Amino acid sequence: MRIAFIGLGNMGSGMAANLVKAGHEVSAFDLSDEALAQAKQSGCETFSTVGDAVQGVDAVVSMLPNGAIVKRVYTSDVIGKAPQSALLIDCSTIDVATAREVATAASSAGYEMVDAPVSGGIAAANGGTLTFMVGGGKDAFAKAQPILSAMGKTVIHAGDSGAGQAAKACNNMLLAIHMIGTCEAFNMAKKLGLDPQTFYDISSVSSGQNWSMTSYCPLPGVGPQSPADNDYQGGFATALMLKDLSLAMDAADTSGAQTPMGEKAKELYKAFADAGNGALDFSAIIKTL
Ligand code: NAD
Repeated sequence: MRIAFIGLGNMGSGMAANLVKAGHEVSAFDLSDEALAQAKQSGCETFSTVGDAVQGVDAVVSMLPNGAIVKRVYTSDVIGKAPQSALLIDCSTIDVATAREVATAASSAGYEMVDAPVSGGIAAANGGTLTFMVGGGKDAFAKAQPILSAMGKTVIHAGDSGAGQAAKACNNMLLAIHMIGTCEAFNMAKKLGLDPQTFYDISSVSSGQNWSMTSYCPLPGVGPQSPADNDYQGGFATALMLKDLSLAMDAADTSGAQTPMGEKAKELYKAFADAGNGALDFSAIIKTL
């Protein structure tokens, strides 16, 4: 297949390279010359405008920073320029309302579109092991599945347009809450005189067990290897967690859901990011508790 890829940053560069490895012809566009040079090295053909990159393609995949950019790129440069038969797949993390608005604009112009945000960071994007949560019609999902499978190990149909973004917002709100809860528990255990490893041995097989503890422990030297063992470098940046919590709180507002713990998690992550910790892994919030 011929696939246009728009947005070749930390995530998109590895994803586009995996499409090439799977045998697709990839037409790449990014505003950054550096990103385009890297895409060329990975075997993509590079273009100087979105309009040129989407000519004659079977699908368009995007991995962009935010909803405003996604809306602008699709409504100004993709819709009406890509062939109407091209499947449009936005993998960026954006708000549910914009995802639905762009999908409606695409469908009014005769295109099929899915939102397909990812779980998994840069290592998963490079390694082709992302999880995709997909919002869109059944036919569009069936067409997107083989393309997404070339970039990830799990592809799940979440529901209609916007459902992928909804799943991502709910999942990452829950992740932030159990990460903070896990940090609080480790700190309190320490203050009560418990050895952290002993607390881990007990809680990891008791009812407090959760992913932040057993797959991503925020304490160095306890549990499996995690960013805590690398001074909180790499992993999932606090700034990105704050972005996802802001999207989750927007979704809570528009849907009328009560999310007091999500609000508190956003407040704590905002204070942590504002104190200059935006680039640290999100588990580093244990330092502030
Ligand atoms: P990034 O900033 O590294 O990459 C974004 C790329 O988009 C950049 O190369 C930039 O030049 C390009 N870009 C910006 N505006 C453009 C435009 N108008 N046309 C073409 N290209 C444009 O960001 P990233 O870390 O790759 O994240 C991309 C998306 O993936 C975000 O929505 C983010 O929330 C999501 N995400 C990131 C991670 C992660 O760990 N980095 C994990 C899951 C999801």
